Amino acid sequence: MEKKYDWSNLPFDYSVTPWRFIAKYKDGAWDDGTLSDDPVCHISECSTVIQYSQTCFDGFKAYRTKDDKVVIFRMDLNEERFENSSKRLGIPVFPKEKFMEAVIQVVKANIDLVPPYESGATLYVRPVVYGTSACLGVHPAEEYELRIFVMPVGSYYSDGIKPISLCVSDYDRAAPRGTGDIKSGLNYAMSLYAGLLAHEAGFAENLYLDPATRTKVEEAGGANILFITKDGKFVTPKSTSILPSVTRRSLVYVAQHYLNMEVEERTVLFDEVESFEECSLCGTAAVLSPVGRIVAGDKEILFPTGMQTVGPVVKKLYDTLIGIQRGTIPAPDGWLFEVEG
Ligand SMILES: *Cc1c(COP(=O)(O)O)cnc(C)c1O
Repeated sequence: MEKKYDWSNLPFDYSVTPWRFIAKYKDGAWDDGTLSDDPVCHISECSTVIQYSQTCFDGFKAYRTKDDKVVIFRMDLNEERFENSSKRLGIPVFPKEKFMEAVIQVVKANIDLVPPYESGATLYVRPVVYGTSACLGVHPAEEYELRIFVMPVGSYYSDGIKPISLCVSDYDRAAPRGTGDIKSGLNYAMSLYAGLLAHEAGFAENLYLDPATRTKVEEAGGANILFITKDGKFVTPKSTSILPSVTRRSLVYVAQHYLNMEVEERTVLFDEVESFEECSLCGTAAVLSPVGRIVAGDKEILFPTGMQTVGPVVKKLYDTLIGIQRGTIPAPDGWLFEVEG
């Protein structure tokens, strides 16, 4: 299964890699799990994942640093989020320590697929858990499978960072006390059609407002949002139905502690967005995706930074966080988990 990778031109896409970790839950307990070379799930047609979407996932990256170490970025936060997502869906939690050991085990087993530092590519880690036992009535499954698999993915910006356009969706992403704060396929299934409409209309992504009042900014379909004010403050929406992005939380820390910026995590009214200087989405995949334009019905907001260039503050945030992840800027204690080659 040796495959030659063109590290500098990798897409952000799934590819089968040699080893994944699989654990099973049965008779009220998780087993220890094991590495497997089987990339296919063998489950009942009436499993709770297929019938009732009983599944959640997470996503983070392993990087090769400049001095050729392999590090995993803040996976303790991903583990915590995966735990919360599991609980909210009635899925038994896989133990924390075993989860982190399993991640390291999988990365080690596929260590040759962690892309070289210079390529800007990374190894994406995808844990997923799902109900496997058949059940027609609506209740949690009795049996589950957890998989942790990895794949090398390209840098989002092999041709340089370019700003994107967003459109405010007519649809809502998550109910006020719903599942917006967990990372689950169900939050993505309902975004697919809205995403198709946005793409057809020439937008990169949808921006969602709060469903209760449709006056506040929440987030994009798969990324949080942040703004920079004219006087250089970092502003990001606070809401219980936003997915707690590890990238956003890391950027808040970077803004405060590395760039000496003032940070406001608060309600952000859509009406104030036009007063901001810079705007960007953030998430593991792209780290930051600068936004040049937001359209809502017949209203169009053009940020002063335009559609050609990245704003100076977003650029600084990007360079600093990437530097921390890749070991060229000292990381805060506990942010990088080293994988012993
Ligand atoms: C995964 C995800 C994000 C980004 O979270 P990161 O931890 O930064 O990758 C943002 N919004 C949604 C809805 C997500 O699913």
